[in-house]
Parts: sequence; C-alpha cells; structure tokens
Amino acid sequence: MTSAPLWLVAEVVTARSATPHGRVLELRVDGWPGNLAGQHVDVRLTAEDGYQAVRSYSLASSGGADVLELAVDEIPDGEVSPYLVEDVLPGDQLEVRGPIGAYFVWTPDRPEPVQLIAGGSGIVPLLAMARAHARSNSTAPMRMLYSVRSANDAFYADELTELADDRFTVDWVYTRSAPDGWPRPAGRIDAATIVANTIPAADRPAVYVCGPTSFVEAAADLLVTAGHSPDRIRTERFGGA
Ligand SMILES: Cc1cc2nc3c(=O)[nH]c(=O)nc-3n(C[C@H](O)[C@H](O)[C@H](O)COP(=O)(O)OP(=O)(O)OC[C@H]3O[C@@H](n4cnc5c(N)ncnc54)[C@H](O)[C@@H]3O)c2cc1C
Repeated sequence: MTSAPLWLVAEVVTARSATPHGRVLELRVDGWPGNLAGQHVDVRLTAEDGYQAVRSYSLASSGGADVLELAVDEIPDGEVSPYLVEDVLPGDQLEVRGPIGAYFVWTPDRPEPVQLIAGGSGIVPLLAMARAHARSNSTAPMRMLYSVRSANDAFYADELTELADDRFTVDWVYTRSAPDGWPRPAGRIDAATIVANTIPAADRPAVYVCGPTSFVEAAADLLVTAGHSPDRIRTERFGGA
C-alpha cells in the first residue's frame, strides 16, 4: 500500500496575468519529488482562523525541477480560484500535495500518435504533455485541439505557436468570438469539428481530453461517435456543470 503524499510548503515565485480571468503561478517546493506530464497537485490554503480549503490544480511543468507551474482560471464566486488569480503574491506561501494521478499522463516512450483536446484551463496538463513531447526525441505525431471562448481567453497562445512544428500542430476552436476572418464561425465543438481538426480514429491515436466537465463529456461522446475506441480516450474533468 502506498501512503498519501505529504503536504509541502510552496512559495510563490512569480504570478503573471495570462488571460483577463487567469493567472500563471510558479511555486518553489523544496523536497518536490518530480512529476510526469499530466499529473496534478492538491493546493491547500489556510486562513488566519485555521479554516482550510483544498482544490486540485494540474501542473503545466513536468520533470524533476522544484519549481512547479500552475495556471488558474477564476471561477466567479469560487472559494479558492479568485484568491489564486487576484490576491496571491510572490513570497506568499501555500501548501501542495502530490504529484497525483497515474492514468492521465503521457510519457515519451509511447509510440502511438497523440491527440490532445483542451477546453479553457484544461490546457494545463496537455501543455505539460506538449512541452514534454518537444523536449523529447519522440517521433509520435501530437496534435492539439484547443477550445476557448475567444483569442483573449487562451492560456499559453504564444508558446503553443512556438511549439508548433512538423511533430506538433494546434487547431483552435472559438466558442463565443472568433478572430476576424477566421474560417469557422464561433461555436462549440461538434461532430464536423472533430472530424476536421483531429487525428482520424483509423490512426488509433491515444486521446487526452481535459476541461470543464460538460466540455469533456461532449468531446468524449463526439470522439466515440467518430469511431475512437473508448479505451483509448483518457479524460480529466475540472468540475462545473
Ligand atoms: C484534477 C483536477 C485538476 C484541475 N486543474 C485545474 C487547473 O489546472 N486550472 C484551473 O483553473 N482549475 C483546475 N481545476 C479546477 C479546480 O480544482 C477548482 O475546482 C476551481 O479552481 C474552482 O475552485 P473554487 O474554489 O474557485 O470554486 P468552488 O468554490 O469550488 O465552486 C464555485 C462554483 O463553481 C463551480 N465550479 C467549480 N469548478 C468549476 C470549473 N472548473 N468550471 C466551471 N465551474 C466550476 C462549482 O460547481 C460551484 O458552483 C482542476 C480540477 C481537478 C479535479
């Protein structure tokens, strides 16, 4: 039996705005054991009166470094995310526990093509996979479909553009407002979007889907309808309706 990871002190090193409602945080965690791309941590906040709140956050970073990267989208009226997006400052201390998750991970030794499908802040663990892929000498093709409300709401847009090469491509879907001249009108992913913007089921890709629960469930249903085997689709649900 493996014991639960211990709570470790995490000091905020940097906090930068990434979208109108989202921030990227770097946390230094002495004693961090390292993590795989796709894993997450639990973050614990403790108020002065001792009240504690715990939420899960995926890691955009992977490997052995002791500086962890999180990207947090503010949920209006949420308990924890508004604090992480608006209030926390470099030098502040939180606690983290992890790494957590053995199923929603990608490692460069996997030979098959990889399809990543992100909704909103669901990009975080998938970016970790794209970064790990870029660092490795994997020859597996990797393709990402990233659904965002508008271009302003995308986390890591510049980095995704820089990562794109003959092994890694990104397809964008805008659900509320598409850039001028964008060929696809704004709207949620549908069957045609999946067919036009993802690795075909016949190529038997490993598929990773992450985002708000409703997005993940819709995407997984569309993938199965498009012929992907459910046992090749891994999902991570961030919560919400
Ligand atoms: C494995 C895992 C990894 C996660 N990684 C990330 C991450 O990398 N970045 C990130 O921003 N969030 C991530 N989340 C979501 C995160 O854990 C919190 O749920 C989120 O930040 C809201 O917390 P809160 O305390 O602000 O809201 P709460 O006070 O918990 O909830 C307030 C209201 O918002 C709703 N709600 C909660 N979560 C969501 C959501 N994701 N979308 C829409 N409505 C929601 C609740 O149902 C409730 O009605 C992850 C969740 C899981 C399970």
